[in-house]
Amino acid sequence: MDFSHYLDAPVALAIALVNTKQLDGDTITSTDDLKAFLDDYSDMWKGVARPPVVRNLARVRGLRDSLREVIASPDDATAAERVNAILSEHGAEPRVSVHSGTPHLHFEPVGSSMLQWLGATTAMGLASVIVDHGVDRFGVCNSTTCNDVYVDTSRNRSRLHCSSTCSTREAVAAYRKRQAGS
Ligand SMILES: [Zn+2]
Ligand SMILES: [Zn+2]
Repeated sequence: MDFSHYLDAPVALAIALVNTKQLDGDTITSTDDLKAFLDDYSDMWKGVARPPVVRNLARVRGLRDSLREVIASPDDATAAERVNAILSEHGAEPRVSVHSGTPHLHFEPVGSSMLQWLGATTAMGLASVIVDHGVDRFGVCNSTTCNDVYVDTSRNRSRLHCSSTCSTREAVAAYRKRQAGS
């Protein structure tokens, strides 16, 4: 499936950020962790937003929880309300940026902090999925040992797990359970 072309990267960033907090650990517990996470996305923010600073950490972790709540929304109206709150909280301001040479959409205010950039960008990523496909395209992994989120791009919205690693592990466990029961 083709999500809004310009927003593929923001969608991927939002999902990756939410998935840094897992059932058995958290990979963003310090400013250095946050810097390491953001390094992978530097093409998106270098020259656009200021690098992360210590005071961003707690609010980025709060943003991560808010994004998960959008994904877990029971219906489109709730998802819309939640994502709109994040956009307004981070001062989202749509505009055309040419920082990479090619004009494309940006959503953070000019001269943005890392927090504003991250909030506006990830919320717009989730907003594009809600608008184009509906909130039921989001999923939370069905595995008992994983709560990673994903965007379900399958034709019949049948995906149950975040990854093939989780679906394989769950299939093997279910098979063993059946064998043990027979
Ligand atoms: Zn850009
Ligand atoms: Zn999983």
